[in-house]
Amino acid sequence: MSEIIKCHACGADMSRDVRPDEVIYKAHIVSIEQPGWYCEGCDEVVLSAEDAQIADEVFIRLRVEVEGLLSRQEIARIREKLNLSQRQAGAELGGGPRAFYKYESGISWVSRPMANLLRLLDHDPSALEIIRANAPRHP
Ligand SMILES: [Zn+2]
Repeated sequence: MSEIIKCHACGADMSRDVRPDEVIYKAHIVSIEQPGWYCEGCDEVVLSAEDAQIADEVFIRLRVEVEGLLSRQEIARIREKLNLSQRQAGAELGGGPRAFYKYESGISWVSRPMANLLRLLDHDPSALEIIRANAPRHP
């Protein structure tokens, strides 16, 4: 790797390194090893999109844990267990046609009520019949 980046703050060379960092959500702290471009002259750090993704993924996992939510992988697993497409899940469980696409691609967070509903359906998929029996009576 012969690429050289100059620090935009002080003009010194920046070099690739992996350094300890912390991801913080509310009072919860997770230690990570953060790759990035670190300035040899000052405290400046530049993260590429892939570098930033490492911290982002840890942050998302931490928030899911702290808030008692579900990860996008868990949401997809439960939806598939219920034999619902993303569109069907949004129509039958609520949230609208694009809700599950958004949860599962990480665009939006599942709410706690939806996370709880999915947990209950994961535990007892037959309860979907109760929801179906009380579906809204409009197209
Ligand atoms: Zn610098």
